[in-house]
Amino acid sequence: MIEKKKRVVIALGGNAILKPGQKGTFDEQKENIEISVDSFGAIIEAGYELAIVHGNGPQVGQILQRNELCAQEIPAQPFSSASAQSQGYIGYMIQESIKSRYPDLDVATILTMTEVDAADPAFEKPTKPIGLFYSRAEAEKMEEEGFVMGEDAGRGYRRLVPSPQPQTIVESNSVKKLLDTQTVVISCGGGGIPVVKKEGMYVGQDAVIDKDAAALKLAENIDADVLMILTDVPNVFVNYGKENQTKLEEIKVAELEKFYKEGHFAAGSMGPKVKACIDFAQQGKQAIISSLENGVAALEGKMGTRVTR
Ligand code: ADP
Ligand code: MG
Repeated sequence: MIEKKKRVVIALGGNAILKPGQKGTFDEQKENIEISVDSFGAIIEAGYELAIVHGNGPQVGQILQRNELCAQEIPAQPFSSASAQSQGYIGYMIQESIKSRYPDLDVATILTMTEVDAADPAFEKPTKPIGLFYSRAEAEKMEEEGFVMGEDAGRGYRRLVPSPQPQTIVESNSVKKLLDTQTVVISCGGGGIPVVKKEGMYVGQDAVIDKDAAALKLAENIDADVLMILTDVPNVFVNYGKENQTKLEEIKVAELEKFYKEGHFAAGSMGPKVKACIDFAQQGKQAIISSLENGVAALEGKMGTRVTR
């Protein structure tokens, strides 16, 4: 009998593309991606069916800033278009790096729309800061124009957009078909373009979908065996940053959920990753959080935080 290859969704963290303190030139990003592909190349070589999800926070932020700065000269594009642009160029960079290393491999980027519920309560309360910083006076003027503005950690005022929960990955069937033919697929970049269905039509939204939540949704929609979130720490820790911090390795979902409820995982960073892993493992699947370098060892059960039911 031919052994079926495991289907793996890997979610790449922001630092796989841009390191803290870097400006965000194309060359910086391409070089980081080359290094990242070096790190997770072992996963490709091991022959897993691989779907890659990536973040886009700084990239979409820059596209929106460019929009705002050039608005007098060139018509500004809506958020959904900025999201698509970022998926396009990041996908291209990853695809070029993988194809250069593994010329015999098929690799493709699928621009992805992520359907959200128009009634999602997140739309009532935008929380996610994006784009340029403004003074209070500028922010007040923008509010009159209909934008929701908020203070961002003492650094000034920024636009706030909602962060609704992903319901379905619209292109998941296409992703599945490509995986069935051993193509490495890059999709759901930055969580995907948020769309709602209105009278049967998809309509792009000014919103941001959490990348880890979208990776979970993709893993569910394409019936993946493993959801692996690769970030800049090798493991999840309890009491993180304290003297008694302890790394989690093999862990049952019930125990991880207990730690989650006790508040061990920061809301804007580790929280959504752990939440995605809890949801996936509860479905009887394997969920992993580790670093890029340890990805293949984590899949082999030797490294990282590995969650099962
Ligand atoms: P990504 O870009 O990969 O989504 P994030 O910065 O959002 O990365 O999340 C990873 C960060 O989460 C780590 O760098 C770490 O500082 C932070 N973190 C917060 N709580 C924990 C925890 N309990 N264990 C490990 N890391 C944690
Ligand atoms: Mg994050």
